[in-house]
Amino acid sequence: TIGMVAIDVNGNIATGTSTNGVNHKIPGRVGDSPIPGAGGYADNAVGAAAATGDGDILMRFLPSMLAVEFMRNGMTPDEAGRKALARISHHYPKFVGAIVVVDKNGNYGAACHGIDSFPFSVYHSKLKNVKVEKRECA
Ligand code: ASP
Repeated sequence: TIGMVAIDVNGNIATGTSTNGVNHKIPGRVGDSPIPGAGGYADNAVGAAAATGDGDILMRFLPSMLAVEFMRNGMTPDEAGRKALARISHHYPKFVGAIVVVDKNGNYGAACHGIDSFPFSVYHSKLKNVKVEKRECA
């Protein structure tokens, strides 16, 4: 999955995902990526998030919406991402997934589970080039 979050000059926030799904998927499987709240979620008043990983598990927990709600309640993007994935790993300790989280001011973070680390790309107007950041996983 490629998941993106973008904020335009007027403060409008959008998220989008593109995925080929999972290996050996059943024909017609939709997956989590196009489901609002699961693959992605955005609210101009707070921020947005996009998730990747075991879609059949992720979609049961709406982690992108959860992360946005955690930010609404005052968490940083990193904390919100970690807490959203912790909700899942509590029930599915072996699940593999990651999430990118951005608040409405452009502060960003990420979290991951079931792999060692998760690289993600960042760009904003003060950067000359895209930079790659990384988070160690829980
Ligand atoms: N989440 C996607 C799916 O389960 C797979 C992925 O993130 O690579 O369809």
